[in-house]
Amino acid sequence: MHAQLSYWERETFFNAIDVAIIGSGIVGLNAAITLKEKQPNWNIVILERGVLPIGASTRNAGFACFGSLTELIDDVENGKEEEVFHLVERRWQGLKKLRERIGDQALGYKEWGGYEIFKADEIDIFQNCNAKISYFNEKVRKITGFADTYQDVSLTKNQFGFKGVHHLILNRAEGQIHTGKMMNALLSIAHHKGIKIYNGIEIKQMEEEKDKVVIHTSNNWKISSQQVLVATNGFARQLFPDLQIEPARNQVLITQPIPNLKIKGCFHYDRGYFYFRNIDNRILLGGGRHLAKQEEATNSFGTTPFIQNELKQLLENVISPHQKVAIDQWWSGILGVGAKKTPIIKKISERIIVAIRLGGMGVALGSLVGEKGAQVLLS
Ligand SMILES: Cc1cc2nc3c(=O)[nH]c(=O)nc-3n(C[C@H](O)[C@H](O)[C@H](O)COP(=O)(O)OP(=O)(O)OC[C@H]3O[C@@H](n4cnc5c(N)ncnc54)[C@H](O)[C@@H]3O)c2cc1C
Repeated sequence: MHAQLSYWERETFFNAIDVAIIGSGIVGLNAAITLKEKQPNWNIVILERGVLPIGASTRNAGFACFGSLTELIDDVENGKEEEVFHLVERRWQGLKKLRERIGDQALGYKEWGGYEIFKADEIDIFQNCNAKISYFNEKVRKITGFADTYQDVSLTKNQFGFKGVHHLILNRAEGQIHTGKMMNALLSIAHHKGIKIYNGIEIKQMEEEKDKVVIHTSNNWKISSQQVLVATNGFARQLFPDLQIEPARNQVLITQPIPNLKIKGCFHYDRGYFYFRNIDNRILLGGGRHLAKQEEATNSFGTTPFIQNELKQLLENVISPHQKVAIDQWWSGILGVGAKKTPIIKKISERIIVAIRLGGMGVALGSLVGEKGAQVLLS
């Protein structure tokens, strides 16, 4: 039997809500902060089912990335070039916004570059990328401000201690952040602005009435709000089954600290299906969901022996073949993906807005998606 809300609880915590935001990931927090900046007198409440915002925002790899060359080439070949560079620009602008809002130090931001690495059997892919470096540099020059964002740095391949890596392309404008610090800073900004965040509240369903939305929670509470912004990303179909978004689990490991770690920066392997970076003298490595697409198309957390084994093999055979490293922790997070890479930010009814589907680039896109969601709500 769930405890009913008392008169005091209802009057104090859930009364006269102007906007209820569902989900306190990077999007929900940015939406709330933007709304509070524009409407300081509004009562803005975030309802989050986890004790922490447990989805993707506290579990990602912290790449502040906006597009590797293989990805951009692929996207241009399969879509409209204009749209591809528009999305790159939004990612760049999103990162700028995040850095301005939080500050590089609080964010743990390091502009150590991102490397795409190519194996012996990927020589054709590398050559194709290499031939297009000048073209893409020209295209992104207006966005990053660098004349040489992408560079062939294959000559440096021995400095990292990899095995079987034949070529590397550097993206000098790519950075990395400390994911925990980012979320801690966003939560603290939201608290300081007077946004109320209630954890442990799972939304099961919503009913829109003429003058409000009634939110039903899993503990049978009914909470009313003038408007609702849904920022539940990979879990969005639990509330709205018709939305074009799928959950995708990503498994991650982190090693014990490694003396004299040679890796510095973000690394994209196997066309970005695997990714790794340095953090606190450790290696963080994740990805591989393309090898078990069906099994990983889930919104259940957890790890599987199959992906764990793939990640271990990569760590031992390619990333750190000369030095045995011990794995310290494993975890997983849930992405929201779809056939298109663009986020879904729209009203789905008069008083309910969704801001979801950030794919693997939520660090870059999250600030703008939250902001845009807030704008749609205010429009
Ligand atoms: C392992 C991993 C690595 C990644 N690496 C990177 C990277 O390096 N760079 C990058 O840019 N992006 C990366 N991403 C993607 C990025 O983390 C996401 O795109 C971004 O965090 C999405 O933010 P969000 O706020 O939309 O969703 P989330 O962070 O998932 O937040 C959604 C929130 O909604 C809550 N919620 C869900 N359903 C309900 C409900 N019914 N009621 C109440 N609350 C609910 C959840 O608990 C969650 O806290 C990675 C993702 C993963 C999983």
